[in-house]
Amino acid sequence: MLFFMLQLINVQLFSKYEIEQIRIKTEYREIILKKKDIKKPYYISLNPKSSIEINSSIKRTYKGTIKIFKKNEKIIIINRIKLHDYIIRVIASELGSDQSEEIIRAFYLVIKSYTINNLKKHKSIGADLCDITHCQLYYGEKNNLKHLYNVTDDLKDKYICYKNKIIEAYYSTICGPYTIDPSLIWKKRLPYLKSKSNIYKGHFLASTHKDYKWKAVFNKKKILKMFSLNKLKIKKKVNNYVLELGDNKKTIKAQDFKRKIGHAIYWGKLKSLQFDLYEDEKNYIFKGYGSGNGVGFCLQEARELAIKKLSYIEILSFFFNDIKICE
Ligand SMILES: [Zn+2]
Repeated sequence: MLFFMLQLINVQLFSKYEIEQIRIKTEYREIILKKKDIKKPYYISLNPKSSIEINSSIKRTYKGTIKIFKKNEKIIIINRIKLHDYIIRVIASELGSDQSEEIIRAFYLVIKSYTINNLKKHKSIGADLCDITHCQLYYGEKNNLKHLYNVTDDLKDKYICYKNKIIEAYYSTICGPYTIDPSLIWKKRLPYLKSKSNIYKGHFLASTHKDYKWKAVFNKKKILKMFSLNKLKIKKKVNNYVLELGDNKKTIKAQDFKRKIGHAIYWGKLKSLQFDLYEDEKNYIFKGYGSGNGVGFCLQEARELAIKKLSYIEILSFFFNDIKICE
């Protein structure tokens, strides 16, 4: 499976922003591109001293090359980078620094499986993945990358497998009390992924984390108009997981509801589909658990297992049944 490690992948940068202007500073020159100037694609090689700044406000540094072009009057920036380099930077973006080695190692293999199974997810713009929670966080260069390279060096050619096939390693930032069976979301049954409670030695993992419980408030009128509803209520729920919302006439899949709110209001405000719904005069109030789809590997819960001195294989086996590390 060495093929994968040699692979270059394409990641959309600054996905959540409406880009009006780009300023690229390299060692030798500065390029400023405004939307109206971009008539044909631009290809630029980056080095550690290059920075990319958009809209005079957000500045980051990336490795590899970038392509800048316009599609439907939107500026798109795509970064081409080696898979291993990309995974290291996703760990840094998703996990932050100062983490124990076993969580870094477990997460490295999870990100690799997720990435391999989601290539071409954004093929309409020529990208594999975007750089926000829709796919995986990816903010480019960080301070602690050297440590991450050292800790994961012997895992370069390793994968998480079930019956000799790379698993589909879904993951969430924090799952809350339960993980979700993928068949509830995608009508997909995976023998190594089942709904389970995140209890270790009698305690719910990560329950003191700030994102374990969340609350999101949305203006009632805005929501009802957006979905053409008379009223909003939960219509179908299994365990903690909301499957359908709507009113007496109309039903909306909870996944579609979350996606539409994400695009229209703010991606990530409705953190998961494990919630209860309340209302007051003006607002709908969502009170929920966890962040992400809650399927598979749970990053914050896994962090606690690493703190409790479990090895990376033990951590992975907590979330995925009957898996092996293969080459
Ligand atoms: Zn995406």
